[in-house]
Amino acid sequence: MENIKELKNILSIPRDIVITSHRNPDGDAIGSSLALYHYLIRNGHTVKVMFPSEYPANFAWMPDADKILIHDIEPEDCNGYLKKANIIFSLDYNALERVDKMGEIIGVSSGVKVLIDHHLYPENFAEYVLSDTTASSTCELIYDFLVMMDEKKGIDLTVGECMFTGILTDTGSFKYSTSPKLFRIVADLLERGVDDYVLQDLIFNSMTEKQLRIMGHILNNRMEILPEYKTGIITLTKKDYEDFNIQRGDTEGVVNQILMMKKVKVAVFIHEQPTIVKLSMRSKGDFSVQEICRKYFRGGGHKNASGGASYSGLSATVNKFKKLLPEFKEQLDAL
Ligand code: 5GP
Ligand code: MN
Repeated sequence: MENIKELKNILSIPRDIVITSHRNPDGDAIGSSLALYHYLIRNGHTVKVMFPSEYPANFAWMPDADKILIHDIEPEDCNGYLKKANIIFSLDYNALERVDKMGEIIGVSSGVKVLIDHHLYPENFAEYVLSDTTASSTCELIYDFLVMMDEKKGIDLTVGECMFTGILTDTGSFKYSTSPKLFRIVADLLERGVDDYVLQDLIFNSMTEKQLRIMGHILNNRMEILPEYKTGIITLTKKDYEDFNIQRGDTEGVVNQILMMKKVKVAVFIHEQPTIVKLSMRSKGDFSVQEICRKYFRGGGHKNASGGASYSGLSATVNKFKKLLPEFKEQLDAL
């Protein structure tokens, strides 16, 4: 961000600020939003955090998570805050369509727009942009942002806990997207008092018995392995959601479980939502699921973790995915 001094100037007097992040917010969306929120309110700003849809229950412990506004639930209030904001932060997303109806207002807002994100191919809608696709998480970039603002002192325990949450979840507990720089940041957060053990327990050991049993059922009965393509697919129908009373958060992380098999390099979770079919893809090593999501499923994300959607029904979507695997056979053989 070359014009950071300008932004620092803008932030030098109290402002009305809205921090936004993407639909189906994950640990990094919530962590980065709340980290920045706590830093900004300590500096006298009036700040609202706003997501298009609700966040998973295992993040409810986060400081001021209960103050987060959900556009699906309170659209009028949310639109009002967005319209009067002097500054709108867009965190952990690269395109306005990722925030649904909020995007339309952000697009025409006369407020200052700031994008901080680590997804590939960021859209050009913000005046101030900190985009680094090599970063582990948006939380890592919030840390960088405060360093660039010469505000490292603003990283107190609360801000640190929020940052740690996003780093932890977006790296799959330090399994991918790590770097010496990231571990230095994490070491700094621990030195500021962040308790990594307590936070991991709060975030990951939070399943209900029902959720764990659903996970077992899904792995046992809804997973298909295509050995010749080193690919695993899990599909869930609308009927599955009804029959087993599966809620959205119950399938969190199921796509990553497929990759626990040595022989599997690509994992896909295809699930029927009320009006669309959503795809969630993961890969190991030098294979880009981002390319598949972008080219074929109107989506995107990262090389090894991407998502997309389809409007042609569940079985047609599964068939479409299977039919495009031969195109990648050579690449998969090389893995
Ligand atoms: P997940 O599979 O966990 O929902 O998402 C994995 C990654 O892909 C995340 O970084 C997320 O932002 C991105 N992603 C998920 N769904 C979509 C989508 O529909 N469009 C785009 N552009 N990115 C997505
Ligand atoms: Mn992220």
